[in-house]
Amino acid sequence: MENLREILQRHGFRFQKQFGQNFLSDANFLRSLVAAAGVGGNTTVLEIGCGAGTLTRELAAAAKRVIGFEIDRALRPVLAETLADRPNAEVRFADFLKTDLSALEAELGEYAVVANLPYYITSPLIMRFVEEARKVRSLTVMVQDDVARRLCARENTPDYGAITAAIARRASARIVKAVPRAMFFPVPNVDSAVVQLTFEEERIPVLDAKCYRDTVRAAFLSRRKTLENNLMQAFSLSRERAQAVLAAAGVPDKARGESLSPQTLAKLSDLLFEEKQKHE
Ligand code: SAM
Repeated sequence: MENLREILQRHGFRFQKQFGQNFLSDANFLRSLVAAAGVGGNTTVLEIGCGAGTLTRELAAAAKRVIGFEIDRALRPVLAETLADRPNAEVRFADFLKTDLSALEAELGEYAVVANLPYYITSPLIMRFVEEARKVRSLTVMVQDDVARRLCARENTPDYGAITAAIARRASARIVKAVPRAMFFPVPNVDSAVVQLTFEEERIPVLDAKCYRDTVRAAFLSRRKTLENNLMQAFSLSRERAQAVLAAAGVPDKARGESLSPQTLAKLSDLLFEEKQKHE
């Protein structure tokens, strides 16, 4: 492929900051990302944010099929050129956050997500897969490095938060590699990292996914308050009931949400769910 800057210039492309446009062009790096994602001849890949198609090209060279989404229609002529020799790659010009995920899954079957994510939608996008996706096998995504640490954190560390616990119910998370900012064009003012989420059937089983979501939200409601107070507020419980549920889950008095592992949050969620059912 011709030099990325020359292609963009030839098409008169202007970078849009609002869409988080920082493109990758190093062919060796792109290939290592495709390999880390475990993409092979039987893999259907969903790419979110194709940009100029540099990653899309490498994915298509290895995968069975690539379906990409790109919000910026100004990239249409660029992508038509960079993907001209990749018949198994198709780009849809739409906002991925507004697509119908269940219809897309019905069309794709099992798939892997590989993406250099636009930073401003990273968390909602990951949460969408965690809460709604049924056929996703893995997410291999480039994110800002502080976000990468948050996604993979352990309890009792400053990076552990609601998103870490929400992901843990369905997927294991690990940092694959650190990526210096100089890898991107234009160069952003933060470093990045590649994170891989591997989805597992029933990873942390819960009686009710919504109740787990509510429990996690309550646990991190206010870091200054105890878990007991947060539960009372979020689940409309008396102090006695909140204390009884915490004791049954084996959570010490005055514990704070960030000290609870996802497994303990799941236990607590099941007890809260049963408690709610008793009163309905
Ligand atoms: N994959 C390319 C690469 O690695 O060079 C581009 C990555 S760039 C960080 C993110 C891309 O996502 C941009 O091209 C941007 O226009 C696109 N994008 C931003 N928001 C989007 C959305 N809601 N849906 C689909 N694409 C989006």
